[in-house]
Amino acid sequence: MRGNSAAPQHVKQLGAIHEPVTAWPKTVLTTHCEYSRMRWIAPLLPAMALLSACGSVVPEASERQPVARSTAVLTPRPEARQCLAQLGMTHANFTPVPDRYFERGCSTLNSVRLASLRSDDATLALANLGPVTCPLANTFAAWARYGVDRAARQVLGSPLVRIETMGSYSCRNVAGTARRSGHASANAIDVSAFVLADGRRITVLGGWRQGSTAERQFLRIVHASACKRFGTSLGPEYNAAHANHLHVEVNGDGFCR
Ligand SMILES: [Zn+2]
Repeated sequence: MRGNSAAPQHVKQLGAIHEPVTAWPKTVLTTHCEYSRMRWIAPLLPAMALLSACGSVVPEASERQPVARSTAVLTPRPEARQCLAQLGMTHANFTPVPDRYFERGCSTLNSVRLASLRSDDATLALANLGPVTCPLANTFAAWARYGVDRAARQVLGSPLVRIETMGSYSCRNVAGTARRSGHASANAIDVSAFVLADGRRITVLGGWRQGSTAERQFLRIVHASACKRFGTSLGPEYNAAHANHLHVEVNGDGFCR
């Protein structure tokens, strides 16, 4: 993975919980939540109680399912645990999701749901984002902070507060091929717009060719930054299908269009 700068390690942020916690395997405890609480709470407490206590958004009782129904057993590999720990250090707000296989070639493995990211001094909201693999989440977090936010400040004079997307996971092929898209493994995000603290909303569709000089420059810097960090970065110059979004994906070897 490229371009992930180390974030401050002295603060552990609590994560919001956005899915029924009882749907998770008990062994999925590798969140910042775990690190901040495991030291203090008696190990005999049920794991689910720990998770419930961590989030600011806890599902209603009616959404919960008995723990006994959860048959998935996830034993994160060391590199997966390391990835989640790294993501926690970026102060991203996220929830791990259990490994799942769908149709042929489609899966969400070692994935998380991102609720928000952090820039240098602000929370970055996210819109329409589904599950993403942990390596993608880390690269996305670094890009948002060091690529997008800083470009917004320098070129447009206002910090980034929100990234709007057209989704991440989708069981589909690359258009016109029999090959699975990076979206089919939650390894790609389609980014459609950036919202700044001053209220401006720069869309890829409206800003790439028809935005102000500064907006067009901003979008090109953001795209170039993506090319340095992601394995594949596609924008409006690639083809008409990408006129309204930037496709960023961890797969690939620097394919940049
Ligand atoms: Zn895409």
